[in-house]
Amino acid sequence: MCVMAKAESKSSSSLIVPGGTTSACWSCGEMREAHFCSACGKVQPPVPVDYFTFFDVPRKLNIDAAKLEREFYELSRRLHPDIYAQAETREQQWSLEQSSLLNDAYRTLKDPVKRTEYLLRIEGVELEEQSKAATEKARATGEVKKQVVPPDLLEEVFELNMQLEELRAQKKMGEDDPALIEEIGRQKLELEEKHETLLKELKGHWNEWDKLVDSGTEQERRKVLAQMLDLLNRRNYLRNLVRDVNEVLEG
Ligand SMILES: [Zn+2]
Repeated sequence: MCVMAKAESKSSSSLIVPGGTTSACWSCGEMREAHFCSACGKVQPPVPVDYFTFFDVPRKLNIDAAKLEREFYELSRRLHPDIYAQAETREQQWSLEQSSLLNDAYRTLKDPVKRTEYLLRIEGVELEEQSKAATEKARATGEVKKQVVPPDLLEEVFELNMQLEELRAQKKMGEDDPALIEEIGRQKLELEEKHETLLKELKGHWNEWDKLVDSGTEQERRKVLAQMLDLLNRRNYLRNLVRDVNEVLEG
């Protein structure tokens, strides 16, 4: 599953630990948990695992948020670099690395959208690049934005873009039309509502995915991943559109 597991399986004393990686404690040689040795309790060097494995949970999208939070605080406490101030240099270093990994893993998994995007990434599915930075870079270099308009929004977006153009032109002339501003504001609200609705729809896909993790075929799983990708791309598109509208309204 991961490179490290293969590399370490060469050692005959290696044992299986949660998450499918194999290792023995660097200090006492006993079997160890993901972060600490279960025999002597010493912090272990981080192994390259995904965030689900880091928390020793299956790759599912419905998660027990309260349990994740408890584990996070428990691990934060046990991995805290202050505890290792008197320890060997390498242990100090590992506690720092593990703490940093812990923070990244927790921040990613606790957030519903970040969690889904992360799952897609580790399953090899890439989202369209739609960050603000990418959009600005595209504008600056005159490139056409790669973003594809979701088909169900084509008409609306076309109309809205015309109105935004009009308002931009008006603002340049130092005037603005209150009726136009009101109309654009109304459409912005609708887009925001759609953006919210998509989150509910996403959770429906989670349930399908979670069932398929244990019993589905690769093809079935790919299908749900593709649906989630499409949904997140649409959602990002809406978010960027609302951002553009705000820029014009406030500009
Ligand atoms: Zn040990």
